[in-house]
Formats: sequence, C-alpha cells, structure tokens
Amino acid sequence: MKKAIIVGAGPAGLTAAYELLIKSDIKPIVLEQSGDIGGISKTVNYKGNRIDIGGHRFYSKSQTVMDWWTNIMPVEENQGEMPEKSYKRSNKDDQKMMVRNRVSRIYYLRKFFDYPIQLSKKTLSNLGLVKVFKIGISYSKSQLTPKKEINSLEDFFISRFGNELYQTFFKDYTEKVWGVPCSEISAEWGAQRIKELSVWKAILHNFKIKSKKDNSVSQKDVETSLIERFLYPKLGPGQMWETVAKIIEQKGGEIIMNAKVIGLHKNGNQIKSVSYQKSGDPNPHIIEGEYFFSTMPVQELIRSMGKEVPAQIVKISEGLKYRDFITVGLLVNKLELSNSKSQDELIPDNWIYIQEKDVYLGRLQIFNNWSPYMVASDDKVWLGLEYFCNEGDHLWNMDDADFIRMAIDELDKIGIIKKEEVVDSTIIRMPKAYPSYFGSYSEFDQIKKYTMEIDNLFLIGRNGMHKYNNQDHSMLTAIRSVDNIVSDISSKENIWNVNTEQEYHEEK
Ligand SMILES: Cc1cc2nc3c(=O)[nH]c(=O)nc-3n(C[C@H](O)[C@H](O)[C@H](O)COP(=O)(O)OP(=O)(O)OC[C@H]3O[C@@H](n4cnc5c(N)ncnc54)[C@H](O)[C@@H]3O)c2cc1C
Repeated sequence: MKKAIIVGAGPAGLTAAYELLIKSDIKPIVLEQSGDIGGISKTVNYKGNRIDIGGHRFYSKSQTVMDWWTNIMPVEENQGEMPEKSYKRSNKDDQKMMVRNRVSRIYYLRKFFDYPIQLSKKTLSNLGLVKVFKIGISYSKSQLTPKKEINSLEDFFISRFGNELYQTFFKDYTEKVWGVPCSEISAEWGAQRIKELSVWKAILHNFKIKSKKDNSVSQKDVETSLIERFLYPKLGPGQMWETVAKIIEQKGGEIIMNAKVIGLHKNGNQIKSVSYQKSGDPNPHIIEGEYFFSTMPVQELIRSMGKEVPAQIVKISEGLKYRDFITVGLLVNKLELSNSKSQDELIPDNWIYIQEKDVYLGRLQIFNNWSPYMVASDDKVWLGLEYFCNEGDHLWNMDDADFIRMAIDELDKIGIIKKEEVVDSTIIRMPKAYPSYFGSYSEFDQIKKYTMEIDNLFLIGRNGMHKYNNQDHSMLTAIRSVDNIVSDISSKENIWNVNTEQEYHEEK
C-alpha cells in the first residue's frame, strides 16, 4: 500500500489525511511534534476553561469547506434567533457547531468605537469634531490626489483611507501586530488581508447589515474583513480537529504524536523518506513513503533538507520572518465596563482591538461570547489577553508570573477590569503564529519554485506555504493537493492559487 507522510496535525495536515482516506487507497501517516491536535487552531483546556488561540471563526467563501466542516460537525438545530448569552449549557458534549454573530469593537481613548467604523453620532462625539474634520479632509485628499506608487502597507492604508484615519485606527494596531513600521511592510499584506475593503464599502456594508434579517452563514458576497456571522464548535476550534483526528484513525490512518520531523531525504527530484525524533527518545526514526505533505514552517523544512539545498534558497529561507504570539487567560468575577455587572449583562464582543498606545496588549478575547461552553462557571468571565511579539524579545523572554502580572496591570490601567477581580490565570506561548510578508519574503518565489520541482512534495497550509492562510485556505491547499494526486495532475500551481480572489471566482 502506498503511504503519504504528513508533517503536522493542524487543519492542513489533518485535512490532507482525511481526503486521502476518502478519495484514494493511500495510507496517511501524520507526524505531529507536539502532544496536541489542531496546530494554531487547537483549544487549550485550563481547568475546564478553554482558550482558543487567536479566536477562530469558522467561515469560508468556499462552499466545499463549509460543507466539509458541517459534515464533520453539524450545525445545532432549532437555533431560531441567534443563540446569545442565554444559550443552554446542557449538551456540552454534542459534536455540534453553533452559529455566532461577530461583535468586535475598537477600544481607543478609553472608549469603544464600532468596527468597522461608522459615521455615527457616537463615533463623532468619541473623536471630537476637530479630529473628524481632519479625517474628512485627509480622506478627500487621498482620493483627489491618489498616490502614484503603492510601495508599502502605509501607502496602501493612506491611499484607501487617508492619512488621518490611518494614523487614528490602523497604524498603531498594525505595528503592534507586526512589530515593524507599516512603511516597512509589503503592500501585499494589505491587498491580501483587506482585499476590497474601502471607506465606502464599509459604510454601505453597515447599511446592508442593518437591513439583513436572515440567519444564514453564507459569506460569499461579504469581504473577508467584515464577516458578520460564523460557525463555532461548542468547545472551540480544537473540537473540530480532535473529531477529524478520531475519524482519520477509525478509517485506517495513523497519527504519531510527539514526533518531530528533523530530516527530509531526497533522491533526484523525489523525497524518499523522513526522519523524526520522538520526545524522550534520542534515536531518530526513519519512515519511507510515496508522497510527502509539509505543514511545518518553510524555514524549518529547508533546514531539514540539509546540504542538498542550493545556497541561495537557504539564504532566502533563513531571511523569512515570523511573528509570535502570547495569550494570557484570565478568569475574572466581572468586568469594570459599564454594562457588565453580571454575566447576563456582559458586553457582547467576541474580541476587542486594543488601540491604546500605553499598553502592549493587542487584543482582548471574551471567550464567554464565543461559546458559553468555553467557560467552566456561568458566573465568571474568561478572557484572553493577546500579545504579539518575537521569539527571544523582552516580552517572549519574560518569566510567566511576571508576564501575567503585567497583563493584569495593563487591563486594570485601561479600565477594563479591577485587579482584585482576577481569580485565576494561565499563559500560552505560540511561536510562528504569523508568517510575515517582510524580511526575504519578496524573494519567496524562488523557494516556491525549488520545492515545486520536487515531484512528490506538497507544501500546504499556513506556515507550510509561508502564506497568511486561514483554516479554510489551509484546508483547500490540502484538498487540491490530494485531488491532484488522485487525478494525476503534476502541476502544483492550483495549490498556490488558493487565497487569491481569483480562486473564489473559480468556485462561484
Ligand atoms: C491570532 C490568529 C487568529 C486566527 N483566526 C482565524 C480565524 O478566525 N479563522 C480561521 O479560519 N483561521 C484563523 N487563523 C488561522 C489558522 O490558525 C491557521 O490557518 C491554521 O491553523 C493553519 O493550519 P496549518 O495546519 O497549516 O498549520 P498549523 O495550525 O500551524 O499546524 C501545523 C502543525 O504542524 C506541527 N509541526 C510543525 N513543525 C513540525 C515538525 N518539524 N514535525 C512535526 N510536526 C510539526 C505543529 O506542531 C502544528 O501542530 C488564525 C491564526 C492566528 C495566529
């Protein structure tokens, strides 16, 4: 029987394994370095309180992916109106997904601003007339005298929104996320992430949402940054991927945990085997196969291919940059914000962008509002304080207890909690959460070409392709790779085309 060796048990690796089992006779063997299923999309269970790293909305413009998810975990029936805080907690073990409303706002000047920004009375009074006037003037200027060349993310933002709006709502938050000035980030990031969003589309979208009554989760005509409604497994994204992992094993696939891939061994333009190390076992194991799927970071993949790789490819790979991520889980009795005296009156946000300049905190998750099952007790609020950093920088290197103390102080300082209300806490570090579009990224095509020429090697997923892929994109890269194998298509271009607007046109 032919074997496919798959590196990584995140969404891409597990989707590849599942697809191989239902579409071919090839046996998938997944090697996962950690003890967890789901990669970045795992759910961490801390004393019955669950953390979703980053907050994972399940939505896709691809019907293939929507059907895939709901086939594994059907949507809970009889939801009627959106299930909000009063959602019953009785059937927590159901393998079901809920339909959720997206609520996220911007916290700036110790006040809430709607996301996307609306030209409402509240926004105007929060900002003050002088600021609003400046925003209007600079937006008009950007439209009347458009920038001729868009060389950076800063140019991209200014040309879309004007300088004043950029300075007010985009600059600081984006620089917190990426750790470098927007002027040093490629405009491609904006083009990919924000796509067609503009001031006018945001305003129009706002009117459309107000008049929209149906409860469907169809997202085909909604820009990615504005997705309003999404599916969510009751116990967080990890529940989806743990369910998929079980199905893979039931159908005859194999998942080897705590197995870190350290070498890929090539012969001509074919990979023949990989070596991996089991934790606690100093002797490497070797496994042979006919197909190889990699979701490990491209930089680590190139390193694991050893001396065979041309020096230029190694140089580009070593120049790739990543952004790392820390979540502090805080269990609190209540929030300080006006309407949050009890759980029933909790503010509605799934997450809040923290635009304040005087704290490192980037985003705040309120896990109760993702799913009530994420929280062990109804009378507590379970928060995720998200920090963007670089492995090895002062935030990353901080002692856990010191970091948690700092996080609590920051949330108290900006008026969201009182420190005395904190009852428990934990911290999770997630390296390489974001593949960055700077460093040597502009030369990435050379790595792509080099790896594409290795016939039986498929780079899939997010870090696996060094691409800002969400779960659905990561899955589609796996689905297309398997389809190519099954249909004997040797070109891999269609895999790299995922997560471009063109792809959505194809699917429509
Ligand atoms: C803050 C944040 C918010 C996000 N929000 C959303 C969202 O709302 N909706 C959405 O759809 N997506 C979201 N995403 C994206 C989503 O997390 C990713 O698209 C998805 O997890 C990528 O899947 P993957 O399998 O490619 O990679 P990963 O999830 O990174 O999984 C890769 C796996 O490979 C393993 N691995 C790595 N190296 C090795 C090795 N050498 N040997 C063995 N195993 C190895 C890792 O341990 C990991 O388990 C978000 C991401 C972040 C960071």
